[in-house]
Amino acid sequence: MHPLEDDALVLRIYPFAEADAVVVLLTRHHGKVRLMAKGLKKIRSRHLGIVSPFNLITVQFKPGQGDRLGILSGATLQFGVDIAHGSLHDFYFLSLMAEVGMIMEIDPMTGEKVFRLLDALVHCVVNHGFREILLWYLLFWIARLEGELADPSACGICGRLFNANRMALGLNPTTLAFHCRTCATPASSGGLGGDYRGAQRAFQRFLTTAPDRLTTSRSVPKEYEAITRLLVARIEQLSGRAIRSLTPLLAVLLQQPEAKK
Ligand SMILES: [Zn+2]
Repeated sequence: MHPLEDDALVLRIYPFAEADAVVVLLTRHHGKVRLMAKGLKKIRSRHLGIVSPFNLITVQFKPGQGDRLGILSGATLQFGVDIAHGSLHDFYFLSLMAEVGMIMEIDPMTGEKVFRLLDALVHCVVNHGFREILLWYLLFWIARLEGELADPSACGICGRLFNANRMALGLNPTTLAFHCRTCATPASSGGLGGDYRGAQRAFQRFLTTAPDRLTTSRSVPKEYEAITRLLVARIEQLSGRAIRSLTPLLAVLLQQPEAKK
């Protein structure tokens, strides 16, 4: 059988035996694959530095069968991430992105969309640096591609579209559906009252905006952290696994606001 070839994002590398490694890749057309990379750790391995976390590569591989790992037979670099030269924000964001890729069951139907999302975000971070809105964009699209996020364009209760007169003044913390003024009464079940106009507008913009076209404005809505945690909670609920790299990312964002790009 000829090896397959595909574009791939390197999500994670586990050392194996003395010189080998198991690499987890998100591919464009074959979903997530786990491959044995023989001799990856040897200094003279021709793949060292190519098969490296967050890099976008072209990979040749023999797929695994059942419990047997596939075999990585070749790799060339498409787009490299130089972790040493990025900021701490960049590193923690890329780590969170790889962790989300690791914990989600990536359905073959949505695999290519998830690949395109992560591919675009890697380019965006390397070319322009991390911006806080990218974290929302990532979490929003992951939850949406899994089919589990309310439509941000309309009130989650009455279904009427938001506009200049009908604004988001309530939120369902579980489904992240926004509620209009009429529906966001204290009586609305399980809803959080509050001003969610900034978040609602941002989410609605995500539907029609590529990540590199997001506005680079410094300010994010003041409910940034709360909404981030709700989005993460949604993804944790979908995957059944905790996202550990959120804490360090939020810590650097909250401690060093002046260091934002
Ligand atoms: Zn409503």
